[in-house]
Amino acid sequence: MVNVTEREPAYEVVVIGAGFGGIGAAIALQRAGVDDVLVVDKWHRVGGTWSANTYPGVAVDIPSFIYSYSYEQRADWSRLFAPGAELLQYAEDVVDKYGLRPKLRLSTTIVSATFGEDDHLWRIVTESGESISARFLIGAVGGLERPKLPNIDGIDSFTGKVVHTARWDHEYALAGKRVAVIGTGATALQLVPEIADTVEHLSVFQRTPIWVAPKIDFEVGPVARFVLGRRLVRSTLRAAGNVAVEAGMAGALFLRDQLPYLIRGAEAGLRAWIRSQVPDPELREKLTPNYALGCKRPSMSNTYLKAFTRGDVDLVTDPIERITPSGIVTADGTEREIDVLVCASGFKVMEQDSTPPYPTYGRDGLNLGTFWHDHRYQAYQGVSVPRFPNFFMIAGPYGFTPGSYFWMIEATAAHAARAITETRRRGATSCEVRQEPHDRYFRQCVERASRTPLFSESCADSNTYYINYQGDAAVLRPSLHAEMWWQNRHFPLDNYSYSTVRAPRSGRAAAADPREVNDVVVAAR
Ligand code: NAP
Repeated sequence: MVNVTEREPAYEVVVIGAGFGGIGAAIALQRAGVDDVLVVDKWHRVGGTWSANTYPGVAVDIPSFIYSYSYEQRADWSRLFAPGAELLQYAEDVVDKYGLRPKLRLSTTIVSATFGEDDHLWRIVTESGESISARFLIGAVGGLERPKLPNIDGIDSFTGKVVHTARWDHEYALAGKRVAVIGTGATALQLVPEIADTVEHLSVFQRTPIWVAPKIDFEVGPVARFVLGRRLVRSTLRAAGNVAVEAGMAGALFLRDQLPYLIRGAEAGLRAWIRSQVPDPELREKLTPNYALGCKRPSMSNTYLKAFTRGDVDLVTDPIERITPSGIVTADGTEREIDVLVCASGFKVMEQDSTPPYPTYGRDGLNLGTFWHDHRYQAYQGVSVPRFPNFFMIAGPYGFTPGSYFWMIEATAAHAARAITETRRRGATSCEVRQEPHDRYFRQCVERASRTPLFSESCADSNTYYINYQGDAAVLRPSLHAEMWWQNRHFPLDNYSYSTVRAPRSGRAAAADPREVNDVVVAAR
């Protein structure tokens, strides 16, 4: 029988992650009247991905007046696309403004989370062995939690400096060094032009080119600040920007059949842009994707493509064969000697040891990572999974509609807060998404995703990270933003089942009552 003192959790809700997802979840709970919240993070500061990614050139690639909370818009961004440090400051400012600092526990790594069926409590264990109990658990660890080093023969034998872009070493000077960058994703696109001037020589190893658009960026001067300071103007601009981002990202993927000319027109425009940046046809061909726009997230830069026209920057497209103690050997047998290996090679996304990044045990000791590995990644609205009561995710499988992460954060945080509030309103101690609505959502996502170009010939050469090792596009919610917004806020409350753990009673009544042992009842309504 469960000890009565353990039936009361230390916190009503523990949120794991103090990035924008965790901060957004804490604010959503606060707005719903749930204040007994602890927000834990392994980093020493808030900001999540912006705390991890501090490589040279890091900046947002969605306009800042969109890449921010709808309820915490700012007019004083330094640029249209704010640099990473400013995003970090924004996170700090929001934490202070919403009084979240006392709820934070930083520099605390979680190693496991376990749901107790006897008392409907989660127990979250830290690296130091401390156990923290909570009625509800919100995982806000983000999708890009585990840096991925390239899986290349000999990488461990390299004797020079190895750095992943998400763990940048600011103490190490690149000046005068021969540097190799592996990867040409959105990170490399920001990094390459930024370090090209500093290093002695730069070799960029490209496996798949990225679609690059011009970046219409500018300093937000006093006039723009004044204009953005008007709430109505700002909201109108934000709405227009949202539509543009939606068309460019979600639209390119989910409306390709409906808007073929628009998407092909955009691709033609991008080809013209690449032509204007790279006069050499051979180099240009290498830098031009041969997959459709939308198969991977495109990005923007006015300096990336041009960097390859410099004499001291090489684009290497021959496949890497192996890494030696002093350089990189490509399939054509060329060895390039280098001092520094920069891995702009992305993250482990929806792999067994990365999503979730720590074992999470639900009912019957079911391990979420194992369940997903065996049965494919899935979650109702990207938020909850059957057999994991009182557990919600901010960025779960099929939760993210391409665009600003803030859209998803506000939607999924609202979902979690709504389910938690309803559980409390019913006087219940547990809520669990029902199998049928979960399965229906999963089926719908899989079916919709199968109709996107992701699984068609047009994306065959994209090597897209949108499709995971199981062959599913579980990273994305195949819907437009409006549907994600609506469904997370208006899902039928009966899509969850609610139950209540009984308070233990003492004496003969308890001994005579078998419910004392099996003391979970389904809520009356
Ligand atoms: P990424 O998009 O996953 O790109 C990784 C790159 O490394 C790809 O070019 C990949 O080639 C290459 N690569 C990986 N392993 C390799 C290997 N063994 N050999 C050769 N090449 C290899 O990672 P990322 O650029 O860090 O971006 C991660 C996510 O963050 C993306 O969703 C991106 O859009 C986002 N991001 C956002 C911002 C922002 O400003 N908001 C900034 C940066 C990144 P393949 O393409 O062939 O796999």
